[in-house]
Amino acid sequence: MTSSCGACERDLEHGYLCPGDTLALAERLERLPKLFIELGLYLAPGSRPAGERVSSGPAGSRLPLNDTVLDLRHGGIALVLESWRSDIHSVRGWSEPAITGGLDYRVMHVCRWIGMQLEWIAASYPGAGDLAREVRDLEGNALSIVGAKPDRGRLLGQCVAVDASGVVCGAPIRYRNGDKVLVCSWCSYTYEERDFMTLYQLQPREAEQKEAS
Ligand SMILES: [Zn+2]
Ligand SMILES: [Zn+2]
Repeated sequence: MTSSCGACERDLEHGYLCPGDTLALAERLERLPKLFIELGLYLAPGSRPAGERVSSGPAGSRLPLNDTVLDLRHGGIALVLESWRSDIHSVRGWSEPAITGGLDYRVMHVCRWIGMQLEWIAASYPGAGDLAREVRDLEGNALSIVGAKPDRGRLLGQCVAVDASGVVCGAPIRYRNGDKVLVCSWCSYTYEERDFMTLYQLQPREAEQKEAS
C-alpha cells in the first residue's frame, strides 16, 4: 500500500512527507529563528535597518507593513509552531510542554524541537504535509518583508564519499529546491534523494555536536 507526500502529493512507499520536502522543512526550521529576529527590526516605526529604502509615499503607507510584521511577530510564527508542537505531543501521547521565555526564545526553541522530530514526522505524522506547507508560508510571509536572498543553493554539507585510499572527499554539496539527485563536483559521487537527509544529519554543524567518530 503506497501513500503520497502531504506537501507535493508525490507517491511514497511509506510515510507522509517525501525526502525533499522533509529536507526543505528542516532547513526552514533552521532559518526561521534568525528571520524572526530580523522581523523585529522592522517593527518600530521609522527604525528600519540601515540602508533600507524608505517609501517616499505618505507616512501612513507604512502601516500595512507594520501590521504584517506585528501579525508574524506576535501571532503568526510562535503561536502557529507551538500549536503544531502541542498537536504532535497529543498524537504521541506526551504531556503538553510548558511555554517559557520571550518570543525570540520561544521561536528558536519550538523550531529546534520540531526539527528534532522530523524523522518521526515524515514517517508517522499524518499532519506532516500541512505542517510543511504552513512553515513554508510563514517563511514566505517573513521573507516578503525581510527580503529573500538569491538562491545559490543551500549548503547541505560536505561530501562523505571515501576514495580507495580511505580519504573522505569533503567537497561542498549544495541543494536547490527541486533537485532530485546531487552529484559531487569533485569525486562525482551521486547522492539520491533518499540520502539527502542522511547527508544533512551527518554534518557537525553545532558546537555541541560531537565530531563524527
Ligand atoms: Zn513531497
Ligand atoms: Zn565528493
